[in-house]
Amino acid sequence: MSKTVNDILQQEVDKRRTFAIISHPDAGKTTLTEKLLLFGGAIRLAGTVKARKASKHATSDWMEIEKQRGISVTSSVMQFDYNGHRINILDTPGHQDFSEDTYRTLTAADAAVMLIDVAKGVEAQTIKLFQVCAKRGIPIFTFINKLDREGRSPFDLMEELEQVLGIRSVPMNWPIGTGRELCGVYDRMKDQVELFQGDDHSTIKVQKVDGYEDSVIRDMAGEFLHDQLCQDLELLDVAGDPFDLEKVLSGQLTPVFFGSAINNFGVQTFLENFLQLAPKPEPRRSTAGLIEPTNEKFSGYVFKIQANMNPAHRDRIAFLRIVSGKFERGMSVKHVRVGKEIKLSQPQQFLAQDRDIVQEAYPGDIIGLFDPGIFRIGDSLSQGSEVVFDELPTFSPEIFAKVTVKNALKHKQYQKGIDQLTEEGTIQVFQTVSFDDTILGVVGQLQFEVFEYRMKGEYGVDVQLQRMPYQFARWIIDDHIDPSKFRINSTLVKDKKGNYVVLFENEYAMRTAMDKNPTAQFLETAP
Ligand code: GDP
Repeated sequence: MSKTVNDILQQEVDKRRTFAIISHPDAGKTTLTEKLLLFGGAIRLAGTVKARKASKHATSDWMEIEKQRGISVTSSVMQFDYNGHRINILDTPGHQDFSEDTYRTLTAADAAVMLIDVAKGVEAQTIKLFQVCAKRGIPIFTFINKLDREGRSPFDLMEELEQVLGIRSVPMNWPIGTGRELCGVYDRMKDQVELFQGDDHSTIKVQKVDGYEDSVIRDMAGEFLHDQLCQDLELLDVAGDPFDLEKVLSGQLTPVFFGSAINNFGVQTFLENFLQLAPKPEPRRSTAGLIEPTNEKFSGYVFKIQANMNPAHRDRIAFLRIVSGKFERGMSVKHVRVGKEIKLSQPQQFLAQDRDIVQEAYPGDIIGLFDPGIFRIGDSLSQGSEVVFDELPTFSPEIFAKVTVKNALKHKQYQKGIDQLTEEGTIQVFQTVSFDDTILGVVGQLQFEVFEYRMKGEYGVDVQLQRMPYQFARWIIDDHIDPSKFRINSTLVKDKKGNYVVLFENEYAMRTAMDKNPTAQFLETAP
């Protein structure tokens, strides 16, 4: 019997896994990504992933940054095949590239891989990204990296996951020795040991055993390490959480894998387990109810817009996450917000600097659409009925700068630029109540650089940015607002819609204002 269109769609959905790696800079994300891509045979990319690291310098020329950072910024999605799966890795830029895009990209992922340095544990950026994932309730898989180095005890790290992130964990494997003593890991699910071999640890031996007490492990790892392993695992068996797939899928329990990305140790096991446990593309909420990925009508939403990726073309790319149906090049879809049919004729997929034209794609995939300025973040595209997906979240700005125009005659273009860039979600804009100064708020420094660059490039306006000492913005809900009560290290501003917002220099100032105004509500984002 021949396959129906729906069978094929189902098959394509079943084999897809779309995820993002979340981590703090230097935990090894580049290294892990590279190893994963190598498993999929996407060797062509491996060099490029590395190349990004060689050019880690700050320069005010955003275009240069774009070009040099290559895969990090330009190539927001990497795709490869492994064991019958099609895998999409969404890049979440860190460091100075950190921006609201980083957060929004997470909405396009169905699962996250949280990468942690065994010596450093949970770090600042990991916490931020984790919280965004936790809010959505997506499953989070933990990879504890750099096991070849001296690090913290696994129990200690599990405790930290619970204390700092509030998530329970279940170790899927467990180190046998650590640092220089590391000889391998015990796989708790498969009852096997994976041992390093050779001086350079370049080969790995896999041996089935009869439980962790098996004397085979003793022969291989020595008495001391085996005793330690038995002690640890007994404790885990008694006091640890059992593996529970339902809890994993709802984001309440994170499976933990130990390994060393640079030695390619534990990476394959991780990938295989991940592919088995991680969810395929799931239905998404919309105004028309839940949209199943197997719905034959194509639909998707724009989660990121990248401007000026190619200096020669001065074009924009809108990144679309496919939610349902099959994408075919040249197809017509409804741009729901503007109420027009548009033809998707120039879809692109980014592999390093190449722009491959995508012919077809399925739910879970991300395509880059050529954007002559018609898309906004959050726009929905759909075939047939008018489907609008849930609004993308906005985030509380943490970095602020006062903006002024160098040439007052350019005020009109300046206003146009600000309006456009606010709409795109590149920046948030505030006016101070006292002096009518314009203050921009962002979550990452790069957004200021992008702002300056685009104001000049697209609107011909030179702007001057002066960093302000604020760290928090809180939207105030109160009928009887008394600005004088917010004065300590803070400034009262209004957002574009006229909502009152207070910018605080530090946590203390914010707490004081809250204590003094017990009836007011302080919201992290606009109501
Ligand atoms: P990113 O900033 O998270 O992308 O981190 P990178 O992948 O660039 O790694 C940061 C540093 O850690 C680099 O010097 C890597 O070579 C190193 N590194 C990555 N994985 C491992 C590992 O498993 N063991 C050790 N010892 N170093 C690692």
